[in-house]
Amino acid sequence: MQGLLIDACCGPCALSALREQAFMSREARFLFYNPNVQPYREYRRRLESFEELMVRESLVYTVLPYEPEEWIRAVAYREESRCEICYRLRLRRAADLALEEGFEAVTTTLFASPYQDHELLSLLGGSICRSRGLEFVAWDGRDRYRAVLEEARGMGMYTQPYCGCVLSERERYDRGRGKKNVERAPRGPLP
Ligand code: SF4
Repeated sequence: MQGLLIDACCGPCALSALREQAFMSREARFLFYNPNVQPYREYRRRLESFEELMVRESLVYTVLPYEPEEWIRAVAYREESRCEICYRLRLRRAADLALEEGFEAVTTTLFASPYQDHELLSLLGGSICRSRGLEFVAWDGRDRYRAVLEEARGMGMYTQPYCGCVLSERERYDRGRGKKNVERAPRGPLP
């Protein structure tokens, strides 16, 4: 039985997880599975920054193939609930891998960010893990978020300006331009 599988969204949030001493006292492995990150060049950038940290800290990690199709199919026509679907997709994949490879617990570096829904993450992670006989570990890195970002920048790590998907990139772009209530093209009918 191995210890903890840590689902990682990016290098800086993985750095925050490293500050959780309780994690590192268990045998831990990081997992990079981010089908939600678009475009591909952005995905590569986040992956490279994550891998640089893993190598620098001599950490064990797994990278699963990039599958944006999975994310697109999962959220299509349900964009309003996309974050819940996105969390579910990534946590399920992490829990499945944890089960296959004999881990006893799962967590996610999404808990590092004040921009993620911690309550929803705990709820979903708890339910997904319980159904597989695994422990789900919730934590809270929000207090040190800014400090960790500064530390990451100091290490030359890439720090991304948006959550991951193309919809979050549009929101970030509009916010940066001070746009409010931007009109969107109406969505077509469900197939
Ligand atoms: S905003 Fe972030 S969490 Fe929400 S769907 Fe996009 S990538 Fe996933």
